[in-house]
Amino acid sequence: MVDSVTAASVMRSVTILGATGSIGASALDVIARHPHRFRVHAATAQTNVAELADIALKFTVDVAVIGDPTLERPLRDALRSRGAKATARAGRSALIHVAQAPECDTVLAAIVGSAGLEPTIAAAEAGKRLLLANKEAIVCAGELMMAAVKRGAAMLLPVDSEHNAIHQCLAGLPESERATARLILTASGGPFLKRDDLEDVTPDQACAHPKWVMGRKISVDSATLMNKGLEVIEASWLFQIPADRIDIVIHPQSVIHSMVELPDGSVLAQMGTPDMRTPLAYALGWPERITSGARRLHLESAGPLTFEAPDRTRFRCLGYAYSALKRGGGASVVLNAANEIAVEAFLDERLRFTEIAPTIERTLEAYDPPPPRTIADVLDIDNEARERASEFVTDKVP
Ligand code: NAD
Ligand code: MG
Repeated sequence: MVDSVTAASVMRSVTILGATGSIGASALDVIARHPHRFRVHAATAQTNVAELADIALKFTVDVAVIGDPTLERPLRDALRSRGAKATARAGRSALIHVAQAPECDTVLAAIVGSAGLEPTIAAAEAGKRLLLANKEAIVCAGELMMAAVKRGAAMLLPVDSEHNAIHQCLAGLPESERATARLILTASGGPFLKRDDLEDVTPDQACAHPKWVMGRKISVDSATLMNKGLEVIEASWLFQIPADRIDIVIHPQSVIHSMVELPDGSVLAQMGTPDMRTPLAYALGWPERITSGARRLHLESAGPLTFEAPDRTRFRCLGYAYSALKRGGGASVVLNAANEIAVEAFLDERLRFTEIAPTIERTLEAYDPPPPRTIADVLDIDNEARERASEFVTDKVP
């Protein structure tokens, strides 16, 4: 359904960092439903030249950026052969450039991993409406990112479904009540909630999420519950709430996307079908509500809604994330980098699923850097932690 524009709405010009990914595709789906509200200024991808060129043509994008600098020429050729008018650019500086370009007012940060940190911070500094999906960026640089948002007078709108749900629940509450709220993040529990023998799990099994269709890295994170651990850190920075007031509850049906508990005992929840187009439409349209294409929630056929406490012994990544958040300093950067290296090795079949958590634990024990004061510090810690984690991965390869 394509809507007509109301007199009050403004045409927004969007840069999509990570346009070829799962979040990028969902965002483009929402944008295509609202041609009078949104245009795409720039779209980026790391290596998928053909898909990026298709997007550039379909959305009459001004600038297409390929992260891998060796692919600038193939991107230019692909754009030309399709008749797409977009300018081709490549590399890290081009990603940063389109994130802060005056031609866009909105930036969707949907790159996976700490690779998205610099352009995300650049968008915050430039005062954009920043739609944040790239949770690793805020996990690594929470304090610096919140400071950049403040300095740039940016508007930070969370896309991650749990944080988006909390944003919705907190909207309209006075500051004093926000400050005392308890956050309850729901977790589906991933594909291995009830499976004990995880030694021989394959990447495809780990990526077969029961409720959400997502990129492969976040799918593995959901299977280890590290995704929820990263989300606790993300929530703490976004809503300025300490770790001891952020709880996790397993809710396999993924109908409630998270909750907020208030001092009077009220618990506010946001519900819907599990479809990232809902939080994306919320963030794209905010403060207006726009259609997303998501199926309506029919509670009578949603089945019983169940809740249970997470098993922290089986899913050890949760504990590592809470303690990294409490430790502060560079611990969250190390946690994230070690996880990225371990997940990549698991997806490449160089590491067992059950070796992901020990790799993270060993890296955290081996490396306790001082607090990062600049983004350059974060990147240095990230690099060093990746090297250390890679050594632990290599140790395990027979
Ligand atoms: P994905 O793997 O499907 O897509 C990642 C995108 O980032 C692609 O466009 C890819 O080209 C780009 N990219 C990858 N490596 C890059 C690099 N080194 N430099 C520049 N660009 C690079 O991932 P996704 O599932 O869309 O997730 C994107 C982000 O959103 C992640 O941080 C994830 O945690 C978060 N998120 C995703 C979902 C979901 O439903 N998929 C939900 C909540 C949050
Ligand atoms: Mg989430």
